[in-house]
Amino acid sequence: MDRTLLKQRLAERLEVVEQRIQSACRRAGRVREEVQLVAVTKSVSVDIAAMLLNLGITDLAENRPQEFWRRAAILPKANWHFIGHLQRNKVERTLPLVCLLHSVDSLRLLDSLEAEAKKRQCPVEVLLEANASREAAKHGFAPEEILDLHRQVGHLQHVRVQGLMTMAAYSENPEESRGTFAAVRNLRDQVKQHFPPPHDLRHLSMGMSNDFEVAIEEGATLLRLGTVLFEGLEE
Ligand SMILES: *Cc1c(COP(=O)(O)O)cnc(C)c1O
Repeated sequence: MDRTLLKQRLAERLEVVEQRIQSACRRAGRVREEVQLVAVTKSVSVDIAAMLLNLGITDLAENRPQEFWRRAAILPKANWHFIGHLQRNKVERTLPLVCLLHSVDSLRLLDSLEAEAKKRQCPVEVLLEANASREAAKHGFAPEEILDLHRQVGHLQHVRVQGLMTMAAYSENPEESRGTFAAVRNLRDQVKQHFPPPHDLRHLSMGMSNDFEVAIEEGATLLRLGTVLFEGLEE
């Protein structure tokens, strides 16, 4: 497809999503500035990721380390979020490129991040992934583990926990995600006081293409959107 036309169609998609975000904020009595769109570019070309930056989208995300490293190097101006499972042997290459790591799913990973961030003398901002829907195939801490985690993170000085991330079980009906999102928000409210500065559990990364409006109503501050922005665009 012609690049000009592609960019125009992308701009239209962004506008539709923007309107939906604004409506959900209004319904929830929230201000638009509380909610950040993070475009998940894993299903599209680097070319489209670059177009997003031109269209004013500042925050991009990938879920596979190799592709994350490659794209973050090509488009260093974006705020890059990593949203997939990160093995500890990939921490060293990932840290210099990441703005926010959404998917911390083990104490061992927290320890590796602390060691690497200390070595680099540079703090790293992370979210703890909550497996609130308790699906065996999903990564993340069980809710009760998160309730207990503050007892085991007193030594963290370079890792700054900024909130929780979750994925609801996939369903056609977004209302099915509401319980999971509300539970994760409650979990955050419960543990927030146990994470003194430099931690600050201000973020809730929840809501994908199928359920982001419900996520906004339940307090999401970061929306991770792919399909709703890109489906069918490059055909
Ligand atoms: C792919 C992905 C998304 C985006 O999902 P869509 O349904 O395409 O919006 C969000 N979060 C994670 C962790 C992902 O892997």
